[in-house]
Amino acid sequence: TVSKSTGSWYKVRLDEPTPDGLTELRCRMAGRFRLEDKQLTNPIAVGDRVSVEVETNSDTETGAIREIEDRTNYVVRQSPRKKHELHLLASNIDQAVLIVTVIWPDVKLGFIDRFLLMTEPFGIPTTIVFNKADLYDEDTLETYEVIRQIYTDIGYQVMLVSAQEGTGLQEFQDLLKDKRSLLSGQSGVGKSTLVNAIAPDLDLTTGELSDYTGKGQHTTTFAELYQLPFGGELIDPPGIKNLSFNYLKPIEVAYYFREIFALSPECRFGGTCLHRSEPGCAVIESVQSGDDRVTDLRYNSYLTLLEETEAQNYWERKKV
Ligand code: GDP
Ligand code: ZN
Repeated sequence: TVSKSTGSWYKVRLDEPTPDGLTELRCRMAGRFRLEDKQLTNPIAVGDRVSVEVETNSDTETGAIREIEDRTNYVVRQSPRKKHELHLLASNIDQAVLIVTVIWPDVKLGFIDRFLLMTEPFGIPTTIVFNKADLYDEDTLETYEVIRQIYTDIGYQVMLVSAQEGTGLQEFQDLLKDKRSLLSGQSGVGKSTLVNAIAPDLDLTTGELSDYTGKGQHTTTFAELYQLPFGGELIDPPGIKNLSFNYLKPIEVAYYFREIFALSPECRFGGTCLHRSEPGCAVIESVQSGDDRVTDLRYNSYLTLLEETEAQNYWERKKV
């Protein structure tokens, strides 16, 4: 199992120890891997199951990755620099957990919806954990309650915790126990404090690594699989701050807003409806009637992401 990936080398956790008794091996990529998607920048991701050949050079064992097993799922991110490229963040994960807080820093629903658009293509179960409950007053609790209602109604789990006061921590630990979880959150939400509260010895580093090359020092990002002391694993992938989706077709945005997708059979144009100005659109009717099958907030996020995806595709096409 690939437990760390820097792009140039990989740490692989072995099912059986090497002749020298190593259970983890520093590996290089050997062989040519046909990329599942031509646009992927990295063919191997943290969480991948690979087969490794042990090599011994001057008494040091290293490994050569020869094969990658089919993935049960994965999450990708559009490269912020090279917009036509995709970066594999992690694979074979059981669930995703997004940490947010209503205040300090304020949660933006658009951010939650972007995160869900990343995990939804494989239907990866996602839980939204609100931290800093100790800071919520009547108003912020009400905001929390509104958001909780929206996301639980469409089938996502929502939790309220305080890393500082320790409330909800047992539930949070139970959520992570014996699962491989993708854990994310904008900086400042208290992700490190929260993880530290349930797994004190686990050092979630910042996901940045300094490389010294001929051109001087530069920073590359890496992803790592952390073992939880009570069972389970965490992946805290770098760079989920500005998620964009030019790899999705506009109609896929409609598919991955699950409550919008659920209503589309009732639209006159069915599965081809983009729910924007089409006649006989059940989604628009729901938003206008206020029946809450599709809420204003989610619908606005949907329109923003739909338009962004269309604009980016257009931009990409013009460039070619
Ligand atoms: P990260 O960037 O998400 O890893 O956030 P940190 O764990 O570094 O926390 C950011 C700030 O929020 C720090 O000052 C923490 O002490 C504070 N913080 C974290 N959790 C809580 C909490 O539950 N309640 C309060 N009041 N502050 C918290
Ligand atoms: Zn429609």
